[in-house]
Amino acid sequence: MTRSGIGYDLHRLNEGRPLMIGGVHVPYEKGPVGHSDGDVLAHALCDALLGAGGLGDIGTHFPDSDPKWKGANSLMFLEHTRKLLDEKKLRIAHLDAIVVLERPKLGPHFPAMREALAKSLGIRPDQINLKAKTNESVDAVGRGEAIACHTIATLEG
Ligand code: MG
Repeated sequence: MTRSGIGYDLHRLNEGRPLMIGGVHVPYEKGPVGHSDGDVLAHALCDALLGAGGLGDIGTHFPDSDPKWKGANSLMFLEHTRKLLDEKKLRIAHLDAIVVLERPKLGPHFPAMREALAKSLGIRPDQINLKAKTNESVDAVGRGEAIACHTIATLEG
């Protein structure tokens, strides 16, 4: 059986915070505000995978009220999600994502992100497709005040 799940995340961007996307530090003057490292790509992928697995959502498994996750590297969320999928004998077939961010350009960082995400999930980088869009200067994302991400996960099992 094939199962799919969608994920979405958004974080506000503030000056002087490290911009972590897909487990990779992208040099920029702003970064996400969040309880963890605010990695929208990791969070949205986590939600897509949990959704496809019928396992709820990221807030249930990794509540931001839990001090354990303060400043956490979000790849840990994916590693844990992988274990939950393994327990249900579900295999990741493919992941696709759109990161929405006005600046900087993300394309040069995609190979490192796919590598880091694939390692955390025990899959191959070619099972992960990444895309980037700007928001055409419209709304908070377009003004550079936030970063957003949309994802879809396909599982088999
Ligand atoms: Mg988040």
